[in-house]
Amino acid sequence: MLKGFIEVDIERCKGCELCIGACPPKIACLSMSKQTNKKGYHFMEQTQNSCIGCGNCALMCPDSVITVYRLKK
Ligand code: SF4
Ligand code: SF4
Repeated sequence: MLKGFIEVDIERCKGCELCIGACPPKIACLSMSKQTNKKGYHFMEQTQNSCIGCGNCALMCPDSVITVYRLKK
């Protein structure tokens, strides 16, 4: 299984949650934060270590605030 991780530009996240639904259900490594950013939005964060680097979340994000990394084996 591929391993990956993501980075989120939290100050540009608008909390729409589209990325959460785009992450495969068996992976489900994204959640919304309890904290808010400077604009007052809850932002997305990676809360599980199960990311496979598929890129679905980044493709879905309307504001392109997610960067996906794949780890070499
Ligand atoms: S890259 Fe894929 S597995 Fe990783 S957080 Fe995004 S949707 Fe989920
Ligand atoms: S899809 Fe983008 S803007 Fe929407 S919650 Fe996810 S990271 Fe934030």
